[in-house]
Amino acid sequence: MSATVDHRALYRLPWNLADNAITWLEPTTKCNLYCEGCYRENDPAGHKPLDVVKEELETVKRLRTSDGISIAGGEPLIYPHIVELVRYISEQGWKPILNTNGQALTPELVTKLLDAGLVAFTFHVDSHQNRPGWPDKTERELNELRLRLASTVAEYGKGRIACSFNATIYPDTLDQVPMLTDWAQEHINIVNTMVFILFRSVRPKSRFDGFVCGEKVDVEELVYQLDTKEVPRDILAQEAVDQIRRSYPEFQPSGYLNGTEDPTAFKWLIGVRMGNSRRMFGSWDAKMMERVQTVHHRWFGTYIAYARPVLMRRARALLPVSLIDKSVARGFWNLLRSPRDWFAPLRLQALTIIQPCDVLPDGRQSMCDGCPDILPYKGRLVWSCRVDELEKFGAFVTFGVKEEQPVEVAPAEVALAEVALGSDDAAQAVEAVSGSNGKGKATVAKTPMV
Ligand code: SF4
Repeated sequence: MSATVDHRALYRLPWNLADNAITWLEPTTKCNLYCEGCYRENDPAGHKPLDVVKEELETVKRLRTSDGISIAGGEPLIYPHIVELVRYISEQGWKPILNTNGQALTPELVTKLLDAGLVAFTFHVDSHQNRPGWPDKTERELNELRLRLASTVAEYGKGRIACSFNATIYPDTLDQVPMLTDWAQEHINIVNTMVFILFRSVRPKSRFDGFVCGEKVDVEELVYQLDTKEVPRDILAQEAVDQIRRSYPEFQPSGYLNGTEDPTAFKWLIGVRMGNSRRMFGSWDAKMMERVQTVHHRWFGTYIAYARPVLMRRARALLPVSLIDKSVARGFWNLLRSPRDWFAPLRLQALTIIQPCDVLPDGRQSMCDGCPDILPYKGRLVWSCRVDELEKFGAFVTFGVKEEQPVEVAPAEVALAEVALGSDDAAQAVEAVSGSNGKGKATVAKTPMV
């Protein structure tokens, strides 16, 4: 349906382990939901003492330059010291961002968090969460909840707290991406970012064995796997791009993070569009994304992921940038040709796709190169999506192809075969590509999401 995105034509975001736009923080592992796509063990006694969380922030301070701190969990809104923690993070010079399911959100809490210096909410809402009060709701039906959350933030955050939405995308909800893209545009006045996280989980029945320090481990102990036998295939970022373009054909991503093992993989893919709730006028190109990251780093000393909502609201302030940036100039030219939109509010909105860890046919795990969601853990920085491995086994799991199943197939071949065949079994796809016996093939295992 749409052109393949070429990573070489985009801006490779300069985020890295020591200097990044965001850093992850988990003050609690207790949650009030049990989402299917979650990778954290829900521990009812999971609240950490505030002093311990502050020590973790000292680890961040010592090891990493960061613009924002994503406070996640568990569910951060049920953490008893959440307001104090947000205030502390703000006082340290970071932007506090709350990654929440929104179940515990109240107008009073938004007011307190605004006063404490909160910069953004990212709400995770999707149809695989089994929310109390929202049983068996479709993605479309959940828009009512999304709008309720966004409106509460807009009203009680007095327009000073940004509002983003995450949705984990599964094969059965991939076709909902255009609808969610439309919904985000319709509410562009109060929704700053829409993020599509492509579901991953471990596959205990895969053709890999898991090892820690040379010892075989049982990956079924890990929390990030489905209870069902059927394991959905891994959706690729390009497929999500194709879906976004069904709703918004001009969608053009501008920045990305590649995989640690696969330079062509889009682990984070970010596009920024300009428009109003009626129509869009254009997207930033790679040069514009580069300008924003570079200028922000030059002026503030950090790369940026979360802009304050006042900036997203004032897209017209970018008019002078038209003199040096073609994509911005094109946007204003399109606006000029649409007189009925001349006096309508002009907004920016980010569309982001996240493709978490992929396990390649030879067992290598391809992580997000320059992972923003790095977590301080016991004095070091680790991938937040794989902390469960550290908790259960004391180290990260590596995968080895089971002895009777040697395979030498390029990852791109597996991915393409999966997409082409619509297969939910990568081994079957490999077999189709290589023409050899599927019994001897590696499969693509899955690890979790952001
Ligand atoms: S999926 Fe994992 S590696 Fe990628 S950004 Fe999230 S925590 Fe980092």
